[in-house]
Amino acid sequence: MNLIFLGAPGAGKGTLAGIVSREYGIPQISTGDLFREAVKDGTELGRKVKGIMERGELVPDELTVALVRGRLERPDTARGYIMDGFPRTIPQARALDGFQRIDTAINFRSDDAVLIRRLSGRRVCRVCGAIYHVDNIPPKVEGVCDRCGGQLYIRDDDRIESIRNRLRVYREQTEPLIAYYRGLGLLREIDSSRSVDDSAAQLRPILESLRGR
Ligand SMILES: [Zn+2]
Repeated sequence: MNLIFLGAPGAGKGTLAGIVSREYGIPQISTGDLFREAVKDGTELGRKVKGIMERGELVPDELTVALVRGRLERPDTARGYIMDGFPRTIPQARALDGFQRIDTAINFRSDDAVLIRRLSGRRVCRVCGAIYHVDNIPPKVEGVCDRCGGQLYIRDDDRIESIRNRLRVYREQTEPLIAYYRGLGLLREIDSSRSVDDSAAQLRPILESLRGR
C-alpha cells in the first residue's frame, strides 16, 4: 500500500495518517520529520538542510526528493507507507514517479470555513508544548494547561492572517496535484469536514480494497 495523503492545512491528513499507520503497520512519512532527522544525524544532506532552514528558506525540491528517496529505501516500507505532506508540488510528484509506484492518492476535502475553524482553535502550552483545541480538546480551565498549569497561547501560524496565507499557498502549489493524480487514475476523495472517526470510516473501505488486490 503505497499511499499519498493530500489535503489543505487543517484537513486532518496527518491525524488520519497516524491512525492508518498504527492500524496497518506501515510508516507515516512526513518531510518535516525527515528534515529534523537529517539535521539531527548530521549527514551531508542534513547539514545542507540545516543551513537552509536557519536562513528561513524553503528546502529545494531536489534535496527534499533525495531525502524521501533515502527514506523509502529503508526496510520498514516493504509493505507500504503513507506520505503525509509530500509531494507538495508538481515537480516533486514527477520526481517521485521516477522511482516509486504509487497505488492511491487520497484527497481530504474540507470547506475553508471548517479549515479556518480548526486551525484557529488550536492552543499551545508555553511551558510544556501540549496542544489543545477550543472545540475538540479543550483544557479544563480556559487558557491554562491541564498538565503543567502553564499559559496557553496561539502560535503565529494559527492566527487568522497566517491561516489565510497558508490556505492560499496550498491552493496555488499543492492543489494542482489533485488534478495530476486524477489524470493518472489514482485519486480517491474523502469528505473530511466532520469528525476524525467519520473520515476514518470513509477511508477503511478504500484501504481494504487495496489490500485485497
Ligand atoms: Zn503545559
